[in-house]
Amino acid sequence: MIDQEKVKEAVRLLLKGIGEDTGREGLIETPDRIARMYGEICGGMEMDVKEILSKTFVTEKTEMVLEKDIVFYSMCEHHMLPFFGKVHIAYIPDGRIVGLSKLARCVEVYAKRLQLQERMTEQIAEAVMEHLSPKGVMVLTEAEHMCMTMRGIKKPGSKTVTYAVKGAFREDARLQESFFRLLGI
Ligand code: ZN
Repeated sequence: MIDQEKVKEAVRLLLKGIGEDTGREGLIETPDRIARMYGEICGGMEMDVKEILSKTFVTEKTEMVLEKDIVFYSMCEHHMLPFFGKVHIAYIPDGRIVGLSKLARCVEVYAKRLQLQERMTEQIAEAVMEHLSPKGVMVLTEAEHMCMTMRGIKKPGSKTVTYAVKGAFREDARLQESFFRLLGI
C-alpha cells in the first residue's frame, strides 16, 4: 500500500534539494499530484496476478496463441525514470486458454512498479506458466528507457530487447523460430 503522506514529504524534500521554492504557485500542488500519480504507476504491486489469470476456458487447441504489441509503461528502479514499449506473449495451451485482455492485465501487474526490464519479462513468463499451466511460454519485451535517452549516454530511439522462454519453447528451437517469425523479427 502506498503511503501518500510519505511520498508527499519526500517530494517536498526533493524539490528543496534541487533548489526549488516549494511555495511558488506551480509547485504548491505538486507533492500531492505526484503522490496520487505514484498510486497509479506503482499500482501493480496491489494487483493479484493469480486472480487475473484464474478465469480460463477449456480448449482443444494445441497451437500457439500469440498476443502481441501489448503496450506498457514502467519505471526503471535505478533512476526512477520511465521505460516503455511493447510486450509480446505466446503460449502453447494445455487444455486451457485465458481471455486475451487478461494477458494485458498480467503485464500491468509487473509494469506498474519500480522494475528492471529483464526481471519484468521473466516475471510475466513465470506468472503465465504458473497460473495457466500451458505447455510452454515465450515473452519478448522491447522498450525505450528514458534513463538512456534523456540523460547519460543520450541515445534516443535505441531499444532494449529481452525475452524469456519456458517449457516447450525452451526445448524446441522451432517454436522459438516461429514466435520470432510471427513477430517479424
Ligand atoms: Zn535506468
